[in-house]
Order: sequence, then structure tokens, then C-alpha cells
Amino acid sequence: MQSMRKICKHYPNCPMKRFWLQGKLDKEWIKNYCWNEHKNCKRYEAEEKGIPHPDNMLPDGTINKKL
Ligand code: SF4
Repeated sequence: MQSMRKICKHYPNCPMKRFWLQGKLDKEWIKNYCWNEHKNCKRYEAEEKGIPHPDNMLPDGTINKKL
């Protein structure tokens, strides 16, 4: 079981969660970032700084044009 406090605060509204639930994104992204205290997540950093970023930007900062 994942501890709730390790889950990123943006998880409920993050497009990464949506893409994963839709079967479009590998669970590893969710496990390594969203359920891992948003460690090194570029999406999280952009959110915190108020920097606009597209929905299809992955947690490592790369763009996935298939999303
Ligand atoms: S992708 Fe990043 S910002 Fe979105 S829920 Fe996961 S860790 Fe948080």
C-alpha cells in the first residue's frame, strides 16, 4: 500500500493520472513520480513556479506527442 502522504498534492487533478487511467501512460510514471513525493517532477516544478506547461509534458519534462 502506498502511504497517502507520499502522493503528490497535484495528483487528483493531474493529467498524468487521467492518461494512466485511460491506459495511455505507463504506470511506472505514476509510481516513480506521483506516488513518490513528486521527486524530480518537472510538472510539479512548473506548477509551483506558475510556469505554463502543456498537458502532454511528462514528469521528466519531455513532450509525448501521442498524448
Ligand atoms: S505528474 Fe508530477 S505534478 Fe502531476 S501528480 Fe505526478 S508528481 Fe504531481
